[in-house]
Amino acid sequence: MANLLEVKNVDKHFDISGSLVDQLKLEGGKIRRKRTVVKAVNNVTLNIRQGETLSVVGESGCGKSTLARTVIGLYQPNKGEIYYGGDRIDTVTGTARRPYRTRMQMVFQDPYASLNPRMTVKQILEEPVRFHNPALDRREVRDIILTTMDQVGVNTDWIDRFPHEFSGGQRQRISLARALVLDPEFVVADEPIAALDVSIQAQILNLMMDAQEQRGLTYLFISHDLSVVEHISTRVAVMYLGCLCEVADAKELFCNPQHPYTRALLSAIPRLGGKAGGHIRLSGDVPTPINLPSGCVFHGRCPHADDRCRREIPEDVTLESGTRVACHGIEEGRI
Ligand code: SF4
Repeated sequence: MANLLEVKNVDKHFDISGSLVDQLKLEGGKIRRKRTVVKAVNNVTLNIRQGETLSVVGESGCGKSTLARTVIGLYQPNKGEIYYGGDRIDTVTGTARRPYRTRMQMVFQDPYASLNPRMTVKQILEEPVRFHNPALDRREVRDIILTTMDQVGVNTDWIDRFPHEFSGGQRQRISLARALVLDPEFVVADEPIAALDVSIQAQILNLMMDAQEQRGLTYLFISHDLSVVEHISTRVAVMYLGCLCEVADAKELFCNPQHPYTRALLSAIPRLGGKAGGHIRLSGDVPTPINLPSGCVFHGRCPHADDRCRREIPEDVTLESGTRVACHGIEEGRI
């Protein structure tokens, strides 16, 4: 499959230093100016192939949502390049960005916060269609809206209702409709089912998978729910402290995880009939992204860490299985 999206060596950092007064710190009897920078995404390289679902997993705060927002253009990367269909898009802004906005859409985690409470379903879905297709007449716009509502399972009789009149699951269907109404090729779904009841989660996932089949969509799926990721993904990228540890085919990753962090993460999935004691417990806490550890960012919690891990940042290596992993221990053959 051809690459639809390529992310090359992307960094996304946030300067949270505040005012000049906030930046002044007393150190060794001298006042120094110190900036505070959150290094949310660090040197990420990733490709997303046409028609696949690439899931990004990791603990809360690992930078997966920031990566998603950077890819779609909500954040400007500090470093690196992003290509969509072969075109560099991270430097494209304003009206030149418009054609990409119709092709790339996003579904947000919280269907309560992501829909304008003052707009009816009709207005929510009509606004992007009219903005991006000014030549369409009223009837054509209405047809597009009704077809999309029908596809996501929202009763078309409710077109004049407001978001507060719907349940959480119905609101997420409307969010999905808003993403699909422009007929995009690529959808970023940032924890789209995390805020929903378990009974509704499966319905939304099935809906997304049906839409993918019917429209040939490509998904970047952000989640911390590994059972869901195993079910829907073509490939999976594992993220820790803003860095990618491992990128692999979904089946390969869940059957044969390589990176010590991936192994620990997967060992936490409850399995029917799983052996007791199979859970790998990591020691220590996740370090702060303000002060990244030297060398491998995982070395403080890794049971296989050695001096080289503390000193050198591991390079990506591609294994025979196609798995891409960044780990000195695997490269040296000691894990
Ligand atoms: Fe562990 Fe070293 Fe591999 Fe990092 S590079 S995961 S510290 S073995």
